[in-house]
Amino acid sequence: MLETERRKVVRYGRLLLERKLTTGTGGNLSVFNREKELMVISPSARDYLDIEPEDTVVMNLKEEVIASSSKPSSEYQLHLLIYQERPDVRAVVHTHSVNATAISCLNEEIPPLHYLIGFAGDKLPRAEYALFGTRELAENAVRSLGSSYNATLLDNHGLLAVGSSLQQAFQTAEMLEYVAELYVKCRSMGEPALLNEAQMKKVKEKFDSYLHSSVRDEKDEKEI
Ligand SMILES: [Zn+2]
Repeated sequence: MLETERRKVVRYGRLLLERKLTTGTGGNLSVFNREKELMVISPSARDYLDIEPEDTVVMNLKEEVIASSSKPSSEYQLHLLIYQERPDVRAVVHTHSVNATAISCLNEEIPPLHYLIGFAGDKLPRAEYALFGTRELAENAVRSLGSSYNATLLDNHGLLAVGSSLQQAFQTAEMLEYVAELYVKCRSMGEPALLNEAQMKKVKEKFDSYLHSSVRDEKDEKEI
């Protein structure tokens, strides 16, 4: 069942470690098959290097496990609520990457200091604190994402990125960790000069066409 999706969750889980976006069992990721209304999510408390496709967990929108011997990630409600509230989203990547998480601990947004913030929108917003693995955290994250943001910082917790494919959600998480690192460095020296509204509007136009073309690429995506 959903073999392609299960293989992707394993592959991108390993990539989270390789690209240093998380350590050990931290973070989680999922893909949603909209036609079948089924989600494939990484299992709870398992090292990404040890996960095989059959260890990933298939769930429906009623939070029922359809296939797997493993427990789903403790953040499964966060993933499921996003798929219900955002019809354009087919993949979610959640990381505890160091720089993004450091800023989340300041309970601040990241302003448009670099055009790569366009992976999130006109800024990287923040979601109010709630305990990990709760419905409240899922609701706060969904409220922060609204109808158009592709990422948010979860207060005192980490980064959440969404996309129309796992490749896109992963790339968004990776790029925003880079922007977060820039922001940390800038703030250690002073205040960064920000892009203005008109400049960000042009960035957004370019991003819209770029993200559109990367969705087409995903259809015949090769193994990484
Ligand atoms: Zn987390």
